[in-house]
Amino acid sequence: MAKKMDKASDARQVRCPKCKDFYEFFVGLPPKACPECLQKREAQIQHVRELIRENKGINAMELNKHTGVPVGFIMKMLQEGDIELA
Ligand SMILES: [Zn+2]
Repeated sequence: MAKKMDKASDARQVRCPKCKDFYEFFVGLPPKACPECLQKREAQIQHVRELIRENKGINAMELNKHTGVPVGFIMKMLQEGDIELA
């Protein structure tokens, strides 16, 4: 997907709500977290998805036990449609 490049001067700094580090973003609304946290979040989602695929009928508590991903975050993934439980 080709996006037009914006000037570097358009960069804005925001504080990541997760790790409290500052990070820059360029256009539109700031991402939910810094690139590092987003990457970690994505890795957790992938991990949870894998477990769901391999363990039909698994619930949020079991997912938490096996992945270490907080139940609250698993519920959020469900709400936002990132994952689906049977
Ligand atoms: Zn962060």
